[in-house]
Amino acid sequence: MPELPEVETIVRDLRLKVLQRTFIDIWTDAEKLIKFPAFPKFKKEIIGLKVEGVNRRGKNIIFELSERRILLVHLKMTGHLLLGKWRKTGALWRSEVSGPMQDDPTNRFLHLIFWLDSGQMIALSDMRKFAKVELRKASEFYSSKYFKDLGPEPLSKSFSSKELGERIQKRKRKIKQILMDQSVIAGIGNIYADEILWQAKISPFRPAESLSFWEVEDLCSAMKEVLKKAVAAKGSSVSDYRTLSGEKGKFQEIRKVYRKEGERCPKCGEKIKRQKIGGRSAHFCPKCQK
Ligand SMILES: [Zn+2]
Repeated sequence: MPELPEVETIVRDLRLKVLQRTFIDIWTDAEKLIKFPAFPKFKKEIIGLKVEGVNRRGKNIIFELSERRILLVHLKMTGHLLLGKWRKTGALWRSEVSGPMQDDPTNRFLHLIFWLDSGQMIALSDMRKFAKVELRKASEFYSSKYFKDLGPEPLSKSFSSKELGERIQKRKRKIKQILMDQSVIAGIGNIYADEILWQAKISPFRPAESLSFWEVEDLCSAMKEVLKKAVAAKGSSVSDYRTLSGEKGKFQEIRKVYRKEGERCPKCGEKIKRQKIGGRSAHFCPKCQK
């Protein structure tokens, strides 16, 4: 699932390409992707709206539109957004741009397409069709429980180890689960929770409340360092995530533990282990993560 660095990469690229562009048409063969309002109404309402801003909050892509509307896109499991031009041949959309848009099969699961007045198209490629797309009044969205329940942004300057400490204290759940809880901190999922805990030398199985003051400091610095590196690398394409131009990110090439079971820990040489925590796999070094 795309996490903070992947969504941030998409949002930065969108900001460069689609500001001030107006939606002129939309197509889908998977109406269930549109959660609100139902597709016919969604289509009628979005046509004519202009993109005035593109932002990220946690793993959510937020298009700020004219008439104080919000287009929310959450990519969930296998979704990613592409910007390009496609033509329909038979049942299939074929990219008119050569390169990864044509050659990488991950970029061919187009189930939702927006046409812009620039002639470009924004497409959602989503193999499993779990993504969430909504069109809402901005005032309703920003005051919704969903939006208000999101925890702080770990890369914001104001986010400190003091705030992290306050948010995880008295929590009995394992630290890895706490890091992935969007109401505690926004934007972290399976890949970066494993990478951050390895960097901070903290075992994913530790109850959050057992972390010392210094461990919380290490965790906070590791969080900022790993996430910044991953944004700079344009995210991780371990599975389906691609950038707006259909290319792979580069963080998977420099990751240390995620899906590296059996390989050697770069710090101590011990074999990396994989073990389940609440249905998700944790990858960690049993020697240097205490
Ligand atoms: Zn190690």
